[in-house]
Amino acid sequence: MKLPEKIVLKDFQIENLISNNDYASAADYLFNSQLNSWELMHKNYDALKNVQTKSFWFDGFKLKVQFNPERIKSTSAAVDEDSVNSRKCFLCVENLPEEQKGIIITDNFILLCNPYPIFSQHFTVCSLKHQPQLISNAFGEFLELTKLLSPKYCLVYNGPACGASAPDHLHFQAGTKNFIPIENDIQQLKNDFGQLIQEDEIITTSFIDDGLRKLILIESAEQEEIEKSFRTIYKAYERLSEEKYEPMMNLVCSYNDEFGWSVIIFLRNKHRPECFYKNDPDRILISPAAIDLGGVVVTPRAEDFVKIDQLLLQQIFKEVSLDKKTFSSLAKEVNSEFR
Ligand SMILES: [Zn+2]
Repeated sequence: MKLPEKIVLKDFQIENLISNNDYASAADYLFNSQLNSWELMHKNYDALKNVQTKSFWFDGFKLKVQFNPERIKSTSAAVDEDSVNSRKCFLCVENLPEEQKGIIITDNFILLCNPYPIFSQHFTVCSLKHQPQLISNAFGEFLELTKLLSPKYCLVYNGPACGASAPDHLHFQAGTKNFIPIENDIQQLKNDFGQLIQEDEIITTSFIDDGLRKLILIESAEQEEIEKSFRTIYKAYERLSEEKYEPMMNLVCSYNDEFGWSVIIFLRNKHRPECFYKNDPDRILISPAAIDLGGVVVTPRAEDFVKIDQLLLQQIFKEVSLDKKTFSSLAKEVNSEFR
């Protein structure tokens, strides 16, 4: 793959970090370098410092709402096939903004700063090849990338039909660790609402229904075991859903040296809630993806930020999450596969 020469950030410091395999520090270095040289990015990260948030407590977990006007394009992006086919792909390296620089991570991905942030440091990790957003072939790399960036960041995946704004170009997001509330809440959720489906010394897999969301947590320090578990879940989920590309899911993944990976899979029923398609004043512009489901719900419009309350959040989350019946069928099926 031949890259345009100017896109890769090159200097002594960053090359040194990369040769020591310290990608988290390299990402941090890239971030600060871009912040100083890219006006739009500087402006948007400055604005993020004063962003308004509201918090809501549910049974053992927290959801925050972030009023973030810069996310309007992403929240309302048209991702139907015609719209996607008729635009230039904004993740292909030849179409990136003039100011954008990146670093190559593993052989197949480039790490780029996201100039429209939700996290205090927000990156897009893009495949160097223009290929569809599908997790089944990229899950192993998703885990590897998480580990490489793990001291500072978590990784996020949005399925092609549930939140990815470029369903035609494989990409992940990386962001400041422990910013998404579910990273802190997950053990509590597992204790309070979890059903253990697989458990031995190497791996545990839990199905969790916290009343709003339906999710699966896979924990292990063995990459191969996680991949095996994920494959089993994916295949069973695929049989139960009738999606064209892949069963609807969003992922949040983190890694630490002591315990290994923690993969959270949000199971979905719908891309956007009904209120998204209504006319004003009934419209609420919320388009939940991994970060929202993980507990930072983004509202780009002030009127929605004001309007949103506990009850609306509950409705929206229930509506876009997998239904109870399919969730328990999936748990049963996966359970029998693991026996
Ligand atoms: Zn592309």
